Amino acid sequence: MIKFLDLPNQYRTIKNEVNSAINEVLESCSFIGGEYVKKFEAEFANFCEAKYCVGCGNGTDALEIAIEALQLPPKSDIIVPANSFIASSEAVSRTGHNVVFCDVSRSNFTLEIKDLKRKITSRTAAILVVHLYGQPCDMDEINAITEGTNIKIIEDCAQAHGAEYKGSRVGSLGDVAAFSFYPGKNLGAYGDAGAVTTNNNDIAVRARMIANHGRIDKYNHEFEGRNSRLDALQAAVLSVKLNHLEKWTERRIEIANLYRSHLEHISDVTVPKEEKYARHVYHLFVIQTNSRDKLSEFLKEEGIEVGVHYPIALPNLQAYCQLHKKEKFNYDSLEKSVLSLPVGEHLSDKEIIFVCERISKFFA
Ligand SMILES: *Cc1c(COP(=O)(O)O)cnc(C)c1O
Repeated sequence: MIKFLDLPNQYRTIKNEVNSAINEVLESCSFIGGEYVKKFEAEFANFCEAKYCVGCGNGTDALEIAIEALQLPPKSDIIVPANSFIASSEAVSRTGHNVVFCDVSRSNFTLEIKDLKRKITSRTAAILVVHLYGQPCDMDEINAITEGTNIKIIEDCAQAHGAEYKGSRVGSLGDVAAFSFYPGKNLGAYGDAGAVTTNNNDIAVRARMIANHGRIDKYNHEFEGRNSRLDALQAAVLSVKLNHLEKWTERRIEIANLYRSHLEHISDVTVPKEEKYARHVYHLFVIQTNSRDKLSEFLKEEGIEVGVHYPIALPNLQAYCQLHKKEKFNYDSLEKSVLSLPVGEHLSDKEIIFVCERISKFFA
């Protein structure tokens, strides 16, 4: 069996460190805020090359808090890529703004610059850039579009911990960024967790207040916020795992290169493009093929776990049927052709080569 994700295997390799970190928190009974949360926030800000990190309850909350912290005019238009997890667009609606979907590039799966230019209007207050599957968006192109305007850039980094655009880490490339530490993400907690990062002190202060009842001290609330804080137990686990993340990411990149060298020559398969500007961190390794459903079935029968991200593009979901205009988009074909192959530090070269051999056999 070739697993798509193997968290028990990863846990076994770091068990002693994780267990003693958890025990320390238990002994301290410092569960909310406190030194473990502070420590992880400082480490993660440093990792992202961002000035500030505010821990929160999960990635979806992090997106909502990031958007709220920008204090955009109510009911602003925010541009969101058509291919992402629903949290990206949900956060826009939940904070009282309008979702405007933008098409995604067929080659790098992120915001398509041509359609982005078309979607910008005088009502556009922000662009939510999703560094999907671990590859950063083309930030220079996006910044060129927003230059001289007041349009804010929000990064959704839920799949891109440690990814780089021209040598700079995601999480520090826009006005504000959101991370998820859902267990299956490249950096995952042992439960729900998330974070907001930014280089802007006002946004950081505002985000921290929003996440903690709008308070400046215990019973002094400047405005209504919410309760979405990073748990100290999760922070302690994340601090341990952050020390291993570079090594795990390097392994993901090795696996991607191995896949590429074995799959590139198959004419029915398109391997994901790695942009020259990018350090792609391969949260997912997504190929495209017209025989997606048959190949997927075949691989499952061979004991290889695969996934589809995402089987229904956001504008095609029931949740957005009222927004959907009948236009032709790249994402309409992507939802039928994308297939995510297993990637992660739990996999050996031999297993990756086996997956490639099975794919070659399928097309032979
Ligand atoms: C996982 C994910 C989120 C949401 O994170 P949660 O921690 O599950 O709330 C947001 N955006 C993208 C692109 C994701 O993959």
